[in-house]
Amino acid sequence: LVSRSMKSEDTVVSFGSAYIGGGSMQLIAGPCAVESYEQTAAAAREVKKHGLSFLRGGAYKPRTSPYDFQGLGLEGLKILRKAADDYALKAVSEVVSVYDLETAAEYLDIIQIGARNMQNFDLLKEAGKMNKPILLKRGLSATIEEFIYSAEYIMSQGNKEIILCERGIRTYERATRNTLDITAVPILKKETHLPVLVDVTHSTGRKDLLLPAAKAAMAIGADGVMAEIHPDPATALSDSAQQMDFSEFDDFILELQASGLLR
Ligand code: PEP
Ligand code: MN
Repeated sequence: LVSRSMKSEDTVVSFGSAYIGGGSMQLIAGPCAVESYEQTAAAAREVKKHGLSFLRGGAYKPRTSPYDFQGLGLEGLKILRKAADDYALKAVSEVVSVYDLETAAEYLDIIQIGARNMQNFDLLKEAGKMNKPILLKRGLSATIEEFIYSAEYIMSQGNKEIILCERGIRTYERATRNTLDITAVPILKKETHLPVLVDVTHSTGRKDLLLPAAKAAMAIGADGVMAEIHPDPATALSDSAQQMDFSEFDDFILELQASGLLR
């Protein structure tokens, strides 16, 4: 169902005024994790200031260590929704459990399924029954074929609004957090009719590579980019080394606009 051979025209996921896919370039930005209303609203203000439409923020955080900040859960979703509403933005957040899908859907415009759950087939099937766009991230060690099958799991249950996101894969290379598989973008665009985004934060894990990675993503045909921003990255409760502060985000946007890749 997700295959290009089944549908030749691009799938466009639309949200009233904004849409993802079909030649628009969207930036999804926001903090790694929702930590407080003030922190999330500050990021929302920046997103709005740049004329962007999508605010991200993790409420259920899939952390490597059980002792790390796990996210604010439902309270985080409520904060994200309020911040998004206060700045007229669309809210994007990850759900890690089937049990939270229905509730999360009440607060979100896009439900994210993260890399670690790309092959959580129960979660994929239930997401496929939702009437809500799903942003599916590539698994840490998933092949492109496996990634496409995971999207198929969702669509086979009826949900046709799926956005794919390349976020880097695990290789022997340690210079970056993950290895950004940039050619996955045109391959996914060729093999499927779905919009494809590139997460420059989790793929590179390096602030100095966010801009070149975003330029590469845009040049190679991605439908958008995801990046993390935080009012004070040094104090962030997760991913403090790689979130942009607001002046870095200003430069990031200006450089992308100057390159002509982002309008
Ligand atoms: C995220 O986007 O917050 C995240 C945890 O990303 P990933 O699932 O790609 O690691
Ligand atoms: Mn993060």
